[in-house]
Amino acid sequence: MTQENHLFSQILSAVRDEAAPFLETPAGEVTTYGGLIGRSAAFANALVALGVAPGDRVAVQVEKSPEALMLYLGTVRAGAIFLPLNTAYTPAEIDYFVGDAKPALLVCDPARMEALKGVAEKVGARVETLDAEGRGSLRERVDACATTFSDIARGPDDLAAILYTSGTTGRSKGAMLSHENLASNARVLCDYWKFTDKDVLLHALPIFHTHGLFVATNVTLLAGGSMLFLPKFDLADVLRLMPRATTMMGVPTFYARLLGTDDFTRELAAHMRLFVSGSAPLSAEVHKAFSARTGHAILERYGMTETNMNTSNPYEGDRRPGTVGYPLPGVELRIADPDSGKVLAQGEVGVIEVRGANVFKGYWQMPEKTASEFRADGFFITGDMGLVDDRGYVAIVGRSKDLIITGGFNVYPAEVEAVIDEIEGVAESAVIGVPHADFGEGVVAVVAPHKGVSLDPDAVIAPLASKLAKFKQPKRVHVLPELPRNTMGKIQKNVLRDMYKDTFG
Ligand code: AMP
Repeated sequence: MTQENHLFSQILSAVRDEAAPFLETPAGEVTTYGGLIGRSAAFANALVALGVAPGDRVAVQVEKSPEALMLYLGTVRAGAIFLPLNTAYTPAEIDYFVGDAKPALLVCDPARMEALKGVAEKVGARVETLDAEGRGSLRERVDACATTFSDIARGPDDLAAILYTSGTTGRSKGAMLSHENLASNARVLCDYWKFTDKDVLLHALPIFHTHGLFVATNVTLLAGGSMLFLPKFDLADVLRLMPRATTMMGVPTFYARLLGTDDFTRELAAHMRLFVSGSAPLSAEVHKAFSARTGHAILERYGMTETNMNTSNPYEGDRRPGTVGYPLPGVELRIADPDSGKVLAQGEVGVIEVRGANVFKGYWQMPEKTASEFRADGFFITGDMGLVDDRGYVAIVGRSKDLIITGGFNVYPAEVEAVIDEIEGVAESAVIGVPHADFGEGVVAVVAPHKGVSLDPDAVIAPLASKLAKFKQPKRVHVLPELPRNTMGKIQKNVLRDMYKDTFG
């Protein structure tokens, strides 16, 4: 029988000095490791008092704050399953996640309380609040709790988190991540990227996503390092704080924005040890411009919610623009024919498949969907198309599922199309991503009206505001009499992407 809480004891195993800082806000408020241990214990106590039992889900839609991070750790220590939700999701979207995951507790911003009370009630979940400053009803409960907690025992295969990834069919799927999925990836990355207790990570990513929550936070914890914890990517704050950091993890948009200002200079970045990029393709252009400006080669890595991190460019050695590097230690990677599953030779383009301790346990309550995304020998079919080059580096060439990535956020066209198709006068729609200087890809909708109807693009955009998170809403709508189709009747999105490639150009 396991006696310890696997993830928490692993990621905190490096703590030697409880007075050492773990996190500092832009306002200079510091949380030490001792503070983290006490505060996450108080959160765990509060959760238990609220009736959260081991294996229960704790759904959380709150702004980024140190308290939100303590809620993550407290949930893990209480043996429950952390379920973070994008802050941009509308109450209508939250309704689906809560209905699917049936959490025991929903934690939301006080401003959302009224809109979400009914959503939680339907599944018998309690609702507590936490705002951007870490205030709210949950805070009051936590403040009254003891700062010691006897961690609930959890083994490597027990679930630590469920993160929803939007599905190509429009239905989101909850990726179930075990304690060891997260712990093993943190160990590998900490070692591969040479993190130590001397590291100070500039943390400007959201914490409802695998990158900011698990990669950045778990690696820092495991190393015993610290973070400068920004509520969001604010260019002025990033420039101001960079001189105190040693490392930064970002999405490509961060690096493009830094290059967009002359205030980002070689001197400012001179003392930095490492810049990591992921979650979306980093263009070779940005990679090269960054090297030219700073002398640093951004280290690009590749992962996904379901698999944690799969590949990384080397720490020492050539970080090749346009590639995502080598499979990480312990991760098996192969390229296969998407239809037959036949493993392809080096250099051939196919679907990327991975296997290892990093790969998730399946989709929450979707055994058939889970089975269809794994090969019989246990490899997970990522849906990303790529190849392994002559030096063993993996390059991603596209996505088999038409996923759009805008500013690091994933948008699945099917979900947006379903909402647009409900608008009066719309016969059909196709949602595509086209090049956008700031966001990488910008969301564009191409809409065909019913015969005899004339559609105003603004009339298509306006009704989406209450139904879809802002990042999913098309930035531009084009109207066509009909959408181009191939002989099989499929809408030719490649033709549309080409037609509208200069929309933001
Ligand atoms: P998410 O689950 O939100 O992390 O999104 C995962 C998807 O982001 C992957 O399946 C890839 O399509 C894409 N992705 C992540 N990292 C990279 C990268 N370095 N280059 C290209 N695409 C990436």
